[in-house]
Formats: sequence, C-alpha cells, structure tokens
Amino acid sequence: MGRRLAFALVLALALLAVPGPLWASSTPSRVAQPGEPASEILYVVEPGDTLFSIAQRYGSTVSAIARVNRLDDPSRIYVGQRLMVPMGDVHGIDPPDSLPYVVQFTDRLVDIAVRHATTWRALSQLNGMVSPHGLYAGKTIQVPSTEEGRLEGALRSVEPHDTLFRVALRHDIPPWSLAFANRISNPTLLYPGQRFVIPGEAERALQPPFLSASVDPLPASQGETLVISVRAARPVTVTGELFDRGIRFLEEDGLYYGLVGVHVFTDPGLHELRIRATESSGSSTEMSGRLLVHEGQFGYERIHAPPGLLDPAVTAAENELLNALRPTFTEPRRWSGTLQRPCEGSISSHFGTRRAYNDGPYRGYHGGVDLRGSTGTPVYAPASGTVVMVEDLIIRGRALMLDHGWGVLTGYWHLSEIEVELGQEVMQGDLIARIGNTGLSTGAHLHWEMWIGGVNVNPMQWLEPFYRWPEGG
Ligand SMILES: [Zn+2]
Repeated sequence: MGRRLAFALVLALALLAVPGPLWASSTPSRVAQPGEPASEILYVVEPGDTLFSIAQRYGSTVSAIARVNRLDDPSRIYVGQRLMVPMGDVHGIDPPDSLPYVVQFTDRLVDIAVRHATTWRALSQLNGMVSPHGLYAGKTIQVPSTEEGRLEGALRSVEPHDTLFRVALRHDIPPWSLAFANRISNPTLLYPGQRFVIPGEAERALQPPFLSASVDPLPASQGETLVISVRAARPVTVTGELFDRGIRFLEEDGLYYGLVGVHVFTDPGLHELRIRATESSGSSTEMSGRLLVHEGQFGYERIHAPPGLLDPAVTAAENELLNALRPTFTEPRRWSGTLQRPCEGSISSHFGTRRAYNDGPYRGYHGGVDLRGSTGTPVYAPASGTVVMVEDLIIRGRALMLDHGWGVLTGYWHLSEIEVELGQEVMQGDLIARIGNTGLSTGAHLHWEMWIGGVNVNPMQWLEPFYRWPEGG
C-alpha cells in the first residue's frame, strides 16, 4: 500500500515539476535484468502503443503498470498519457494470484476464463487486450491462479483405480470431453492424485465433426518438431497446411496425428494453421488458427575447409542423394515415448548453429547435433526402425540413416563402422554403428540428425517427453 502511494507521489511530483512536452524518450535506454529490484521510468504513450507493447519494451508487465498507475481498464490508454513503467523485479507489484498461461490452439478467451473461474472481460482487462484477435496459440497471458475448490467441482483428483471413464461418469460428462479438457491423448494413462479439470458448460464447441485439436509444444520454436493431434466425431480424412506445406495426418485409436518440422529459417512470428476434415461423401469442414513461432537460440560458427571439399559439384551430388530420401513416409510409427540417446557423449556442437564456410556468408546451419566420443564408441538405435541408407560420402563420411515411420528419419555421419545392412530392421537400443572421423570432420564425434517430413529438426527435443505418445505404434 505504502509502495503504491510512493509511486503515485513520484508520478504527481514528476507531473508538477516538468509540465509540457515529452521528457521520457520512447526508445528504451536499457531493459532491466531479471531479479533486479524494481525501478521505474516515466513513459509518454505514443500512437499504436498498448500496455502490452510498453510492458514488453521495458521488461515490465501489464498488470504491474496498471497497478502502479491505478488504471481500472488497461485496454484504455491514450496518446500523450504519462505512465510510470516499473522495471526489474516487478513481481512484487503484480497481483500475487496471477499465473502465466500459454494459449492453446482451439482456445477462446471464454474457454480460458471458465477454466480459471473468471470472465473473459476480467481476462482481457488483466492482459490489456483490446480485441479477441489478439489471442493466438503459443501466446502467454496472465490468468488468475485457481485454488483447488474455488472452481466449484472443477478440479478433482484421481483416486486409486480410477479410469478416465469412471471420472467422466461421476461428473456426467462425455469421456472425450474430459480427455480434451485435460489434453490426455491416452485415456488409460492416469495416475492416482492426478488432477482433472472438469469442463464447464461453456467448453469449446468446435464445428462438427471436430471434437478437439491441439498443437504441442507451444509456443513453437525454430528447429523443433510439432505434434498436431485432432479428434473427430466420426471417421474422416484429415489434411492440413502450415508454413505453406501440406501436413500428412495418420489415424491411430481415433486420434489423427500430423507431425511438422519447423525449419530453422522459418520466420519467427505468427503462422496460419489450417486443418480440414473430409467426409466419405466428399464434403469437408475447415478450422484454422494462428500459431506463434519463437526464434531459436542458435549460435554462429565459421568452418575452415579445404576448397576442394566444397566443390559445388561434390556437395550437390551428395545433397541430391540425401534429398531423394527426404519424402520417405512409411507406416506404422516405430517409436513410443521418448527416444534413447544414441551414445553417451556430451554435446560438442549444437543443432541449428548458423554456419559460414571459410570467408563466406552465414547461409547454412548445423543440421544435427554433434556428440563427443572416440573412434569405435558404439552407437545405438534411439528408436526402432529400418535402415534406409548406408553410404561412404565425401562430406558426411561413412553415413547411416534409419526410418522410424511417419516421416521421422534419423541420420548418423562420420562413422568408422556401420554394424547393420541396408533394409535391416533394428530395435531401440540395438548396436547400429561406431563413432569415427570420416568425411569432412576435424575429430572423432557422432553427428546425429533428425528429419520430420524431410525438414531437419533438433533430435535432442525427442529425448524429453515433449508429447505423451500412446504405447504401441
Ligand atoms: Zn555435425
């Protein structure tokens, strides 16, 4: 309280002391570092500003600015208005009962509000949103934190021996609706104590035949894999587009899965995702929404290579050989859960690093991850699959590729030995090769790469449970 008063006083004094034109530059002089105690600057609102854009520019938050300036409606600011902008550790100023929430693909403001026992008006006020079009998948907004029990009948714990169907029955709601509200792709995977949101009346009503659609993980990042899962009320053919490319969907236990590789050079920002369900009669229904793609955290490196090795004829022929494999798409899915690390070594070069050769421009990027290891170190299959390439190449050296189904391929370069044959089926954990220093390589290591629908992505993401895959495949 005293703090708020102090801020108000500073503002009042500032207004008295320097009347008239702008005295706070609209360009940020500096952005406070996290953990730094709160300090504040005076900002004069310019055309096009929103509290959100101002908060972002100065490392502050909408609610902190609204509190300090006692704004009842953060969506109403006007050009020329003078605002104190707290920077640094603004969390002491933020209402303690608000939490960040990442907007999901099919979320409407009203759905998020219902799930957090509030109204869409209160949410838009808390976040300084002036239009519902400001909402998109991957955006982080503030929501009031919900204490258990405050939402009447909304958050419930799973009891021992509960199944999703029993919980649904107890609350008189369809099991799919419960599964959707809680983003459960496999209804048999419940654990005691797990908490459910029991969807309310205003739960998202998608256009039939769509029952649900989600994108994981959100927000998306350059160089990552996205899993798009769609549920429909009846058997349909699901197709879609993202980044001007078609998405191939495959059905498994009533869910349609589409895997998308976000290319390292995809523009950061908003991208339109379209999903279509086509009935056997030929009629189709489309849903669409915007997805936020974050910039990846990639470094830069210069590679010094003898000119002969970078002969365009050599690189083109080798790339062509690989490109012929990029459209590979087989069924079924050959993995479940996370992938196994192919060798123990730590990372010596990360995926996505922007690369320039000799004195050239940064036109390339590191298409895989380099793992440390001496020549002869065993390499194991990270998932089951089929050997689809065994080659001795000039740049990639002794090279091996596995197909894991659904357009997921992994590659292993610079090997000393390959322990499998073309066409061979391997199981997760099988010995497939040994680390080496062949091709364009300056020391023994494993270059491990991954393709999703022909797009190079970071395989390290797959070592973590970024999506809860059902067993089998
Ligand atoms: Zn590499």
